Amino acid sequence: MSLIVQKFGGSSVADAERIRRVAGIIAETYQAGNELIVILSAQGDTTDELIAKAAELNPRASKRELDMLMSTGEQASVALMAICLKGMGVPAVSLTGWQIGLKTNSEYGSARIESLSGDRIKKELGQGRVILVAGFQGVNSSNDITTLGRGGSDTSAVAVAAAMGADKCQIFTDVDGVYTADPRKVPGARKLDEITYTEMLELASLGAQVLHNRSVELAKKYHVQMEVLSSFKPNTPGTLVKEVTKNMEQFEIAGIAKDTNTTLVEVIGLKDEPGKAFQLFRLLSNAKINVDIILQSSGCGVRKDIVFTIPRADQEKTLVSLEEHKDALGYERIAVDQDVAKVSIVGAGMASTPGVAARMFEALADAKININMISTSEINISVLVAADQADRAMNVIHEKFFPQ
Ligand code: ADP
Ligand code: ASP
Ligand code: MG
Repeated sequence: MSLIVQKFGGSSVADAERIRRVAGIIAETYQAGNELIVILSAQGDTTDELIAKAAELNPRASKRELDMLMSTGEQASVALMAICLKGMGVPAVSLTGWQIGLKTNSEYGSARIESLSGDRIKKELGQGRVILVAGFQGVNSSNDITTLGRGGSDTSAVAVAAAMGADKCQIFTDVDGVYTADPRKVPGARKLDEITYTEMLELASLGAQVLHNRSVELAKKYHVQMEVLSSFKPNTPGTLVKEVTKNMEQFEIAGIAKDTNTTLVEVIGLKDEPGKAFQLFRLLSNAKINVDIILQSSGCGVRKDIVFTIPRADQEKTLVSLEEHKDALGYERIAVDQDVAKVSIVGAGMASTPGVAARMFEALADAKININMISTSEINISVLVAADQADRAMNVIHEKFFPQ
């Protein structure tokens, strides 16, 4: 008998018909003699709809109340699934994050998991039930409901798999695996049989929405083998996410990702003197703003500009901090550009393969796509391009590295 964790995303449980289909997958796994814990997301676009309802009432809704609101989406999903399974004669129980003892810190909207007691899950498994856990949520030390960040049900699934010592963690979604690029944007994308934790973490962090980046981080830390597969074609093998893969040296890169949730901020006319960059980035770090790509102009005369990107969600906070400290920083003005996107290539072998960056830039040059900023690491190369060029950029880069 194996202990299996299965997670189904929002589109997989969007309506009654899809809930029935997923219930069929769950029933089959259970009836094959496995112990089963299932993590569910909110149905379809429920989370977006709840956020929109809050914004209608108060565009600056408190994060605590938003978490209280958003968590109801997952709660409805698990209750509906339990109702469906019981109707099919499968013993099941739905549980919230609080009921399974999933404790988090108090960062509402992006809470980090601190512990998971597992007692309730063990007790219910002992009764022979399928456990349905509401994803994306936990409670803080005051027993207030928190959420783990958008896409966070993947992280709930891996945390449960790690804490319960599950034999496998299957992430069912609306595509049949991890591809070399988003198959909805890049028609020629290829499905990967396997990918390493390191490369998957990088792709997810750089915008490949197929897995929540923190789920991969946790899986790597606790050696949870993940499999990404389709809830519409459950018997088609998906993609394994693991420590080492067989085909490590097959391609120069593992994949391409796009991040459109980025904002470019230009701090123009700073005094060209030592300590300015330190002053600026200390300020942003104190405000807990994650700065991504940074560029400093060489300075003309006694002034210089510093340009950087930040997550779109931090835009307002960044502008407020910069405005508040305008005099101390001594800049002339700030400019903001939201019409940008970051396109990245990821590959563990990149550092030891000469010419990878040149090939990426050649693809963009041939397509006449202008690069605004570049950043590199051992395992990725990212470029900032105009948002309306990003899909084309992904496609031409993909064609360069994975020719048809
Ligand atoms: P779920 O609701 O099941 O959590 P998501 O919408 O969060 O599903 O993630 C699945 C989506 O991720 C796919 O529909 C696909 O468009 C997108 N995606 C982005 N990059 C990739 C990639 N490299 N491989 C597969 N899917 C990707
Ligand atoms: N329902 C949440 C969201 O839409 C969590 C998830 O789906 O993973 O972000
Ligand atoms: Mg998701």
